[in-house]
Amino acid sequence: MARRSLPKLSMNSTPSPRKAERLVAVKGMNDILPPDSARWEALEERVRALMRRYAYENIRTPIVEPTALFVRGLGEVTDIVEKEMYSFEDRLNGEHLTLRPENTAGLVRAVVEHNLLYNGGKRLFYMGPMFRHERPQRGRYRQFYQVGAEAMGFAGPELDAELILMAHALWIELGITGVELQMNSLGQPEERKQHRAALIAYFEAHADQLDAESQRRLHLNPLRLLDSKNPQMQALIEAAPRLMDFQGEKSKAHLDAVLAILQANGVPFVMNPRLVRGMDYYNLTVFEFVTTELGSQGTICGGGRYDYLIEEVGGKPAPAVGWAFGVERVLELMKAQEASAPAIAPDAFAIVTDAAALPTVCACLEQLRSKGVAVQLHASLDGSMASMKSQFKRADASGARYALVFGPDELAQGSVTVKALRDAGVAQRTLALAAWSDWADTLQSKA
Ligand code: ATP
Ligand code: MG
Repeated sequence: MARRSLPKLSMNSTPSPRKAERLVAVKGMNDILPPDSARWEALEERVRALMRRYAYENIRTPIVEPTALFVRGLGEVTDIVEKEMYSFEDRLNGEHLTLRPENTAGLVRAVVEHNLLYNGGKRLFYMGPMFRHERPQRGRYRQFYQVGAEAMGFAGPELDAELILMAHALWIELGITGVELQMNSLGQPEERKQHRAALIAYFEAHADQLDAESQRRLHLNPLRLLDSKNPQMQALIEAAPRLMDFQGEKSKAHLDAVLAILQANGVPFVMNPRLVRGMDYYNLTVFEFVTTELGSQGTICGGGRYDYLIEEVGGKPAPAVGWAFGVERVLELMKAQEASAPAIAPDAFAIVTDAAALPTVCACLEQLRSKGVAVQLHASLDGSMASMKSQFKRADASGARYALVFGPDELAQGSVTVKALRDAGVAQRTLALAAWSDWADTLQSKA
């Protein structure tokens, strides 16, 4: 195969004597910095524990997928596929690739490719970055993180309910309040076909009130009109034919069974017959968790059933249901509600003034760490050993509970001085390095 020539990358071969131009992050893509990153880690840990309790297993799929996966999976006439995907051609082989805008399609691809449903269903969860080319604003970024849970190969309404209970439990555990659960059913394809015809007739009769995008989408995918964010169209959308009125007994029974489980568990919800979600793959149950505290980016979590997607991506037909939440939005809501921030200070801060003592000191610190004590060693920009006074200042600023002083006197005696930085009443103690591990044990029992 002939290699296509690569576009030249503009890189200077010789370093310029001038100060290099400052490079900044891509618009809408954020660095997650300490101490904020501690909130992320705490959330991720909570999620992992939650998933274990509900027996969901972790899965990690590539960030880059074939573009066709999303076009086929999400639907050609959707905001994501029409406007929001980061798609590109592989420079070497011309493959059409896309940075994943969501992870359900990727999971389905992986499940089919590796035949994961060969002996029954699978409960899976993921966490990671997604990419959508949207207008950046509060709660809306171009790289953002999602946590998602998917139950594949199960048709029963108890799975829809299980997933909702799980999300509900997570909000409680995170200390988030005031999130409204909105429920709807999109019925089955046959029912949607009839609804579609009614929708087209309705919107055609009011064609003068449609914006340009809605006029274009009317015959391609009229359901998408219901998802329009144009405020001028909301009254029209409100009065449009409702999918619920086209659903038969079986679809209604599925929804009722989900709602009965929610009710038995005291999970409050409201019915929202306008809720359609942004992707085409959903059927039957759809839901969103919504807050009024994040401005217009109020949906923190959304999901539903997608019983036909696995087949669409080339697998043996199998039902599935899942949700995803936006990590940034959940963390922002926690901040707005002043949910407690996790502690990030080390337990101890080591002060050492003589570079020759570093091998001994580092060995001592390793012993502590192997017992689970978090220890920070003082360090300087130029590698020199700072004065005792300035090291104490750093120790204080670190938030550590103890300073471990390896000064000249201590080292001469084979000992270390432990000074409590937070509890004024605790006297400082000098310990023999030989008995060092015991001190770690007392610290552990207090922690
Ligand atoms: P919206 O209506 O706000 O655009 P969506 O329906 O496109 O959301 P989904 O595709 O259902 O969102 O994704 C699930 C969750 O991921 C959303 O509820 C939201 O919390 C989060 N999310 C989606 N897009 C973004 C984004 N661009 N930036 C940050 N979070 C996002
Ligand atoms: Mg969107």
